[in-house]
Amino acid sequence: MPASVAPFLRPRSIAVIGATNRRESLGGKVILRLFAAGFTGRIFPVNPKQPSIHSTKCYASVSEIPDEVDLAIVLVPRDACRAAVEECCRKGVKGVVVITAGFGEVDAAGRRRQEELTEMCRAHGARLLGPNCMGVINTHPEIALDATFTPTPALPGPIGFLSQSGALGVAVLNICQERGIGFSQFVSLGNKADLTENDFLEAWEDDPEVPVITVYLESFSDAGRFLELSRRIARKKPIVLVKAGRTEAGARAASSHTGALAAADTGAEALRRQAGIIRAATVQEMLDVAMLLSRCPLPRGRNVAVLTNAGGPAILAADALSQLGLALPPLQEETQAKLRAILPREAAVTNPVDMIASAGPPQFAQCLQLLLDDPGVDAVISITVTPPLFSGPLDTLKAMLPVFKGAAKPALGVFMAGEEFYGRLSELPAPPPIYKLPEDAARALAAVVGYSERRAAPPAELREHPADRRAIGEILGRRKAAGGGWLAPEDTFQVLALAGVPVAPWRVAGTPEEAVAGARACGFPVVVKAVSSAIVHKSDLGGVALDLRDAEQVKHALARMTEALLRAGQPRGSWSWLVQAFRPGGREVIIGASRDPHYGPLVMFGLGGKYVEVFGDVRFSMTPVARQDAEEMVRSIHGLALLTGARGEAGVDLGPAIEAIERVAELVRRRAEIAELDINPLLLFPAAGDAVAVDARIRVAS
Ligand code: ADP
Ligand code: MG
Repeated sequence: MPASVAPFLRPRSIAVIGATNRRESLGGKVILRLFAAGFTGRIFPVNPKQPSIHSTKCYASVSEIPDEVDLAIVLVPRDACRAAVEECCRKGVKGVVVITAGFGEVDAAGRRRQEELTEMCRAHGARLLGPNCMGVINTHPEIALDATFTPTPALPGPIGFLSQSGALGVAVLNICQERGIGFSQFVSLGNKADLTENDFLEAWEDDPEVPVITVYLESFSDAGRFLELSRRIARKKPIVLVKAGRTEAGARAASSHTGALAAADTGAEALRRQAGIIRAATVQEMLDVAMLLSRCPLPRGRNVAVLTNAGGPAILAADALSQLGLALPPLQEETQAKLRAILPREAAVTNPVDMIASAGPPQFAQCLQLLLDDPGVDAVISITVTPPLFSGPLDTLKAMLPVFKGAAKPALGVFMAGEEFYGRLSELPAPPPIYKLPEDAARALAAVVGYSERRAAPPAELREHPADRRAIGEILGRRKAAGGGWLAPEDTFQVLALAGVPVAPWRVAGTPEEAVAGARACGFPVVVKAVSSAIVHKSDLGGVALDLRDAEQVKHALARMTEALLRAGQPRGSWSWLVQAFRPGGREVIIGASRDPHYGPLVMFGLGGKYVEVFGDVRFSMTPVARQDAEEMVRSIHGLALLTGARGEAGVDLGPAIEAIERVAELVRRRAEIAELDINPLLLFPAAGDAVAVDARIRVAS
């Protein structure tokens, strides 16, 4: 465990500054909970007004404590926090938890007070958790630390939980208590003035006490670092994330296609996909998934068998499973025969297996075992509905427990039963994952199947592509020095070419004679376009002429376009001509990049051309973009068939698109001065490796 977080999760001595005998106050609750949890180290209450707290000597100040103090919990009123933290620092305390609120979450003055605390801690080599947090829990019996004020103590278990919201943390611990879900460690992050989610993720990476990580966040402290860490950690252990608080799309400059198409949740979704973490929509879902992960082995495939004593819920389960991309294969002949031997004639022994209402606890146990033994089955969902004729659902579960426990595949129990059943769940030793509704079980299983598949796939491969970075830097630097803005077309194509993105041969011309010479250099047939920073969609203004086969046609096109542009209100001389080789028959895709205030550069891929905004069929990734990320972006668009070949058309080679995504990602990651970039279209062709960018824009930040 990194030294930075060890004092918080494994302290040997704790000072509670602001402890009191008054049970109703925060300081009273925390110290009581600390004692009640049976902390194995030493506890030093600090309060100048009380000689003892719950029969333990109380100190007037931290400096009076005769021993070393690993961790300080600060609960004093807001304006006394500074002095308290300062004293801790002088004492040499290495971990300070500030539970007190009234800092960065309220106003600018609060933010300044918060910064003071952080700076003070950093100057003394101490780390700060909070302020405005709920504290920490480590249920390991050798530590038995609960420095929180939750009304119900956390059950011990295998789950690590990081929560940005204190109130939500309390609520979750309560729900878990009720459902019999236990935690190994819990950290309330609060305002994240110093320590953030990333510090604890790193701490849990190799901690065997935390085989499953759950995280509730409202904002990422450093999304890039989170991606880097979780990409690595998710290959060792699952991370389940609830990300609330969608980012404001409006906060982004959106003058490019890419900027306009990046929706509020784009960054978080990209991060989830790239990191291979499980994203849950709600806290409920997070717990459903974490329960499955912590109680069952990972599934090896998508084939699910459903066992039930009532038809309706099994149909719900089957519908949910197939909607989520899981399969309900027929059972093997042998399994069916064995089921038939123990079930009444009216029972269905296909999949779902409906034992009908007469099934009692022994049938549930036997049939579950048979389904788990079927080699074609990767996971089983068992659904118990109305209480079987002679026994309650708890008896059914008890009869099934040994089978659940011995299962080498995920086995989930759905109990459509009352509160009485759920109220008694925590009495059971090592229960299976249990759900109230078939859909909840199906959703949790689908999430875990996805995670399992991802983990079995090769790790993300970050490819380095050669590029002339010095020359790129010079071009961008010139524009930046001139106040930023859109690059001239020749610079745009130059930058792309230097970055290794294939571009169609081009020339820039000021006069018809130059245009004709340019056309000869590019080779007929050519395209001529009017380019100016004032024109966003050239073809809309009649500023694009395709398939020009000789000098005559070029001159004619220039005259025609000049007329159209003047008519459209473009001042004479405000544009120049771009001459380009004409490449007919390509499929058009868009590759773009924009910057998100929270997620950094986002790279986009989608079907391109004129209708990109209409269909919005695009995918985003954060940077760095791994080869697999780029591949997934390309392969997951709805219109993929338009690229791979629909209705007899030849498909195009997607390789150059994947490589171009990686190259654009690297370009914008390395060159912070690129504010946004669009390549629309990149033309893709059937021949291997054949692709060219024919239209692009790059804006340099001022
Ligand atoms: P704009 O997007 O500003 O209207 P483009 O340069 O993208 O202008 O051109 C519009 C369309 O013309 C492209 O989407 C593509 O269909 C076609 N086009 C442009 N340049 C070429 C080219 N060099 N070869 C083939 N088709 C082209
Ligand atoms: Mg275009």
